[in-house]
Amino acid sequence: MTSSTAAIPIQVKGACPHDCPDTCSLVTTVQDGVAVKLQGNPDHQPTGGVLCNKVSRYLERTYHPERILQPLKRVGPKGAGQFAPVGWDEALNDIAGRLQAIAAADPQAILPYSYCGTMGLVQGEGMASRFFHRLGASFLDRTICATAGAEGLIHTIGGKLGMRVEFFAESRLILIWGSNAIGSSLHFWRLAQEAKRRGAKLVCIDPRRTETADKCHEHVALLPGTDAALALAMMHELVVNDWLDHDYIAQHTLGWEGLRERALRWSPERASAVCGVPAAQIRSLARVWGTTAPAAIRLNYGMQRVHGGGNAVRAVACLPALTGAWRHRAGGVLLSTSSEYPIDAAALRRPDLLAGRTPRTINMVTIGDDLLRPSSPSFGPAIGALIVYNSNPVAVAPESGKVVAGFAREDLFTVVLEHFQTDTADYADYVLPATTQLEHWDVHSSYGHTDVLLNRPAISPLGQARTNSDIFRELARRMGFSDPCFADDDQTLCRAAFGDRVDFELLLAQGFAPLPVAEAPFAEGGFPTPSGKCEFFSERLARQGLDGLPDHVPNHEPFGASPRHPLAMISPPARNFLNSSFVNLQSLRDIEGEPLLEIHPQDAQARGIASGAVVRVFNDRGEYRCKAKVCERARPGVVNGLGIWWRKLGLAGTNVNQLTSQKLTDLGRGPVFYDCLVDVRRG
Ligand code: SF4
Repeated sequence: MTSSTAAIPIQVKGACPHDCPDTCSLVTTVQDGVAVKLQGNPDHQPTGGVLCNKVSRYLERTYHPERILQPLKRVGPKGAGQFAPVGWDEALNDIAGRLQAIAAADPQAILPYSYCGTMGLVQGEGMASRFFHRLGASFLDRTICATAGAEGLIHTIGGKLGMRVEFFAESRLILIWGSNAIGSSLHFWRLAQEAKRRGAKLVCIDPRRTETADKCHEHVALLPGTDAALALAMMHELVVNDWLDHDYIAQHTLGWEGLRERALRWSPERASAVCGVPAAQIRSLARVWGTTAPAAIRLNYGMQRVHGGGNAVRAVACLPALTGAWRHRAGGVLLSTSSEYPIDAAALRRPDLLAGRTPRTINMVTIGDDLLRPSSPSFGPAIGALIVYNSNPVAVAPESGKVVAGFAREDLFTVVLEHFQTDTADYADYVLPATTQLEHWDVHSSYGHTDVLLNRPAISPLGQARTNSDIFRELARRMGFSDPCFADDDQTLCRAAFGDRVDFELLLAQGFAPLPVAEAPFAEGGFPTPSGKCEFFSERLARQGLDGLPDHVPNHEPFGASPRHPLAMISPPARNFLNSSFVNLQSLRDIEGEPLLEIHPQDAQARGIASGAVVRVFNDRGEYRCKAKVCERARPGVVNGLGIWWRKLGLAGTNVNQLTSQKLTDLGRGPVFYDCLVDVRRG
């Protein structure tokens, strides 16, 4: 079409699908069926018209020349990435037949593997859940990111709830705890900057000197996995200096005497020895927390990826109740707002299709071990088929040596729904081309604000790409699942996600719908715990034989415990990547350069390592080669392996997860990516 006959551009409202608390509202400009511009929605207050650097490149991602746009069938050995194009009918008929044969023996031998490649409720666990429920496949425990922290919150304040993010702009003190907000929660960071301009103090608590730490007034560079010890020592100081809101404690908390006694065992000197932070800095942090109002904590999930992650979140979540910070709308703590959303899971996911069956549950964190397990009475059938969607486990699951060995099993039938030929897609028997966010309907909750967002398709699916829901709908049909729910289209699924609990007409009209959430949710107590109080002591945990009070739970691999592996390694995301998403975008990879290990000058000098040198990072689980960056972003004793690079884009076909372990957290059965001892050598 020539420019003189070109159609008038249209703007389509959508939602960012990525695993980020900000859940931005998008506006896509479409001309002649092509998306030509993507912007943040200026009318959506949490987005404020701004997108992060990553999603600003979403058109580059959508129209990437390496997008998979037709079904592919493996023609080489597993993992070699050799595929030939195949028609949809042939692919779906063969997949349905293979799954039927496995299910005839035991459907639990089939495992879905998915996470938050999209946060959409429809293209995530909508039609997919209906399909796997009807099939009777194994359940997947979706624990790989946030469950330790979620359990910590639930057992303290009663849910994944907290401050409304917009009120951080009014706080006088913000502790940014375990979060590189500039990279991973840009819109919160804008509010923190506003608070700073109004005179607030910002403190960053993080083992790494992040870009966020650079811009805060103070950085507390504690050792990984010692956050609960720091929080308990802060409580010690609150007690001995009487920086407490006695009235709030008496009326709205449970278990104060026990917590007080425990906190008094954590002098700043004791915590200093555990955390690797000067006692004077702990005292000063406690003083500013105890004497500033309104005071707020923005917690993120980095700090809970260690053995004691659940207890650490519990300890931190107690701090606002001790000082009565919840009385103010700009005080309290925010880790997640997920529990605010009235999702109608029964209507969307249809657990009734299980028809009384209770399949076994496989934890996604231990997929490496579990793919290698034979059938047994305790485990059940060996995993015979994996359907992977919205995830890239070969790159992101821990202890990847075992994950790769599992995926390489010739007797494992693997189907991967994907946009790109990821490390995981290389091990597939079939790769099925999935639509991106610009090509499908979806509806979104958030874990950083409290609006529901609708995503309308802006363009038609590229090539032969299909929506995840359409792929599961087609598989259901070919497997003879005639239940009417498999005929629901994606708009129907969008409506089913919230039913009449959210005004769908408002979503259609403006793209977002705010939930009615109180400004200061716990100003008068009213925590949704069994006692209705902030539970310093949790009877529910005690009944499970666990400690009812929060405590410091040492790492599985505590700093200093292994002479052979004297360095602690954390693996936070590189600023321009979102887990393993965006790593294949050249423009972002050009910014990140190559896989790097940040190492402090003292640790580098002791090993004769210079910046730019190739290093070998190793422990008993494996080794990883990358370039060293000698800098003070790493604190002494801790190295930062920035992630999550695709293995095949790294130096020797591995990434940091070659070194991480499959051990689990104290609560929530989560992963311990940042609880990992290593050593480093040149070369
Ligand atoms: S800030 Fe987060 S929600 Fe917003 S566009 Fe970026 S990744 Fe998406």
